Amino acid sequence: MVQTDQSQLLLEKDERYIWHSMKPYNPQATLVVTEAKGCWVTDHTGKKYLDAMAGLWCVNVGYGREELAEAAYKQLKKLAYFPLTQSHVPAIQLGEKLNELLGDEYVIFFSNSGSEANETAFKIARQYHQQKGDYHRYKIISRYRAYHGNSLGALAATGQAQRKYKYEPLATGFIHVAPPDSYRDEETAVNPRELKSVKAIDQVMTWELSETIAAVIMEPIITGGGVLIPPDGYLQAVKEVCEKHGALLIVDEVICGFGRTGKPFGFMHDGVKPDIITMAKGITSAYLPLSATAVRKEIYEAFKGTEEYDYFRHINTFGGNPAACALALKNLEIMETEKLFERSQKVGEQLLNELKRKLQDHRYVGDVRGKGLLIGIELVVDKKTKEPLDVSLVNKVIGICKENGLIIGKNGATVAGFNNVLTLSPPLTIEKEDLSFLVQTLTEALAQIK
Ligand code: PLP
Repeated sequence: MVQTDQSQLLLEKDERYIWHSMKPYNPQATLVVTEAKGCWVTDHTGKKYLDAMAGLWCVNVGYGREELAEAAYKQLKKLAYFPLTQSHVPAIQLGEKLNELLGDEYVIFFSNSGSEANETAFKIARQYHQQKGDYHRYKIISRYRAYHGNSLGALAATGQAQRKYKYEPLATGFIHVAPPDSYRDEETAVNPRELKSVKAIDQVMTWELSETIAAVIMEPIITGGGVLIPPDGYLQAVKEVCEKHGALLIVDEVICGFGRTGKPFGFMHDGVKPDIITMAKGITSAYLPLSATAVRKEIYEAFKGTEEYDYFRHINTFGGNPAACALALKNLEIMETEKLFERSQKVGEQLLNELKRKLQDHRYVGDVRGKGLLIGIELVVDKKTKEPLDVSLVNKVIGICKENGLIIGKNGATVAGFNNVLTLSPPLTIEKEDLSFLVQTLTEALAQIK
């Protein structure tokens, strides 16, 4: 434990020097974390917290893995940097490994963050159509409530107005449709192509004119926007709509990838073959920055024209850093050796059932839903009307959990009208006793707002 005056000084310096992205929304004071192991983080006063959000949905193999630090250290000593305008061995090896996981032939462009991976995908999609002589396709369709990143293109694709409106004008050419919301809409269709949320995309493409649509981007499950799990077959049906209109399907696996939903990638639940797949976070379990844009081989081939500017004119200084790639390879090895994808599916199901059992009778718990170790608990004032619970009460639950040593999340203060979903996304390694602590602490916190 550090002395109280030292602890106070750190907080004062934090206030003075660090611009936090979410500070105004934090239910309590800043947590200054000094070390972490497994699922537990320790703050500067020595207090421990179970991190049931794995940072920002990303520390998939848990904290404190020495073998990851060693993989990076070894690579840094051997070759710390070389740009991917040329090549290096860890990038080639990681490209091959990702292909193995994706189960198909993809060519990989490396960047450093999820936002950059999505920007890269948008540029590839737009140029691809140009390469094919389809000069009017530039529009990109995405969904309300989804988050795709902080840069002006990725934010334009984002469907959360409260994150966007102070930075307008953003990149142009982005169109939004409503996402499937199985809790509120209770969409049912024997044929997924008949789902309201699928037909909406088909209709927008027709109205906007097929020849102007470059791509659709979507997460397999909307994560930060409130853990919205689509009906089975939804993604496959969207792919068919894309094919009908000649548009590409970009799947954002920044959170859903690397076991979060109980499969290597979220799109695999629907057996679909996306044109472009973006990934970040879990690729290194966030130990180092790295992201990737995986592009179907045939799309890549279209960039091999003979004109001077047929190549992809996009460059990223740090993208695919050798140490980050070496670390990612070790991270994926851990995931495979410890069977973390399967574990996420099995443990996630147990956690979901336990939460449903414990919470479904609570007066404010409208819905408990999840896939793998990605769980959302939607809080409502009234279970019949489904009116969202006020954000102050949602924050209160998060605050009580934090006081009692548990970090949970919520769907930001960014989805207009819907700041009412508690989120859980723990490391995929979470153990039985930690799960019991999570369920008990959360149940007790919710009991205090009855
Ligand atoms: N896409 C999704 C689905 C995300 O959740 C995020 C970040 O949370 C991003 C993209 C952007 O990733 P980054 O913060 O690494 O730029």
